[in-house]
Amino acid sequence: MCEWTPSAESAVVEDRSAARHARRFLDDHWCVEHAALLRGHADLIASELVTEAVSHGTPPVVLRVDCEGADGVVIEVSDRDPNGPRFQAVGPDEAHTTNLVEVLSDEWGVRTRPGGKTVWSRLVV
Ligand SMILES: [Zn+2]
Repeated sequence: MCEWTPSAESAVVEDRSAARHARRFLDDHWCVEHAALLRGHADLIASELVTEAVSHGTPPVVLRVDCEGADGVVIEVSDRDPNGPRFQAVGPDEAHTTNLVEVLSDEWGVRTRPGGKTVWSRLVV
């Protein structure tokens, strides 16, 4: 975490309002000191991550945000399903499909552990 904004996490409401709640969570815990310019992408990424976890994962789903200053902001969503994620594909044709998190993140990945996974995305100014 940075010197301005503590990291924060929250259980995700597991219904169709999940993405809206995720954006509200970012409203409350976003580091405007370091990452004001990243907020648009962050909203889209957090929405996509929680929607995937609520749709395909196993509860409970937890959203986390952590500002690392010059190293960027990390958004993470964890759930109890070690498989996946299964993001909706975007792209011009089947041979070039990707997903929104891949497109918008500077880095992203999946950490698996016994009984669950965390999908993370890093945005750098
Ligand atoms: Zn910060």
